[in-house]
Amino acid sequence: MTGEMACARCGRRVPVRFGVMPRRCACGAEFEWAPFGGTGRVAAFLMALALLMSPLFVLVWIVRSLLQDSIVLHVVALAAALYWLRVCETLLVRLGLLRMEGVDVA
Ligand SMILES: [Zn+2]
Repeated sequence: MTGEMACARCGRRVPVRFGVMPRRCACGAEFEWAPFGGTGRVAAFLMALALLMSPLFVLVWIVRSLLQDSIVLHVVALAAALYWLRVCETLLVRLGLLRMEGVDVA
């Protein structure tokens, strides 16, 4: 995997824990999604995101009968989806498909 992420303000490496990057640096700089430059980039981002999210959808499809019976599993599935979304977001930043304000990817 390529793409070391560093804070654009202080130059510190952005610490990735469990595949998820933080929303702010230790120096106080906040990381936010930068605007996309053109529809080509949006399309590439959406396709990569769909690809990365697909294993989760497959998993939910497989356990859907269980999901119908349990509200707890619904919550777990939702939490997993949100977590996986953050993991994908971090991956996409490292791959250069998503630009983050305040983050330099080398
Ligand atoms: Zn910083």
